[in-house]
Amino acid sequence: MKTVLITGGSRGIGAACVKKFAEEGCNVVFFYRSSADEAEKISKETGALALKCDVADSEAVKLAAGEALSHFGSRSFDVLVCNAGISVEGLVQDLSDEEWERLDGTNTGGTVNSVRAVVGGMISEKKGSIVLMSSMWGKSGASYEAAYSATKAAVIGFGQGLARELGPSGIRVNMVAPGVIYTDMNKGRSREDWEQIFSDTPLGRAGRPEEVAELVYFLASDKASFITGQTVGIDGGFVI
Ligand code: NDP
Repeated sequence: MKTVLITGGSRGIGAACVKKFAEEGCNVVFFYRSSADEAEKISKETGALALKCDVADSEAVKLAAGEALSHFGSRSFDVLVCNAGISVEGLVQDLSDEEWERLDGTNTGGTVNSVRAVVGGMISEKKGSIVLMSSMWGKSGASYEAAYSATKAAVIGFGQGLARELGPSGIRVNMVAPGVIYTDMNKGRSREDWEQIFSDTPLGRAGRPEEVAELVYFLASDKASFITGQTVGIDGGFVI
């Protein structure tokens, strides 16, 4: 049975990933930062282990990853999905130091911390698959979200480097670049925003977390055994 770690599994895309991997019979552990009630609900529903762990805290990530391996009696994770992320919107000149540190610490730092915590075991076992959550804005850049775009572009660069570094150890690394997905991250959007998004999207709609989870599952699975270092868009055609 595969042992799978998903960061940011209490809500949105991460929660859909937890459900998908659990449905497919994997041992799943997920990290969350503050949504304890949601985490407990997902855990009860799927049997996944929920651990409160801020991915920006490298020591906490190391400890929680170790705790999860002991819980499942596994030597290493088979799959790591680095999904935890936050967005901060606004003009770049208005971004505070605190906002930038939180954004970069979570999106970029959290991804690096999670990989560092699990990759030693994967290298020893000479197997593993890592999926990093980027964004279409990491490829094309978003006005009003330039700093967020920077963190998501960093995730792509990090994953490309990792794919080269870890390929000889039998570990694949791929990135997912979603477009606009119906989750809490987009709940503040106005009606005009949604209309603009629909008209800019060839498929004329936003995506569902479950659609992203299917792609993450595929990339993590042995069906994608010759795919590494790729950034796969799932955005209804927004970025072509
Ligand atoms: P949500 O806001 O719905 O959920 C975010 C999840 O990440 C929650 O489970 C949250 O846990 C967790 N999380 C946030 N910060 C931390 C942290 N420091 N440590 C641990 N967990 C944390 O977001 P989405 O599902 O929409 O986004 C998931 C990922 O997909 C993000 O990386 C995002 O950038 C990316 N993405 C999303 C898009 C979208 O349109 N929704 C588009 C492109 C990319 P808790 O609630 O407990 O804090």
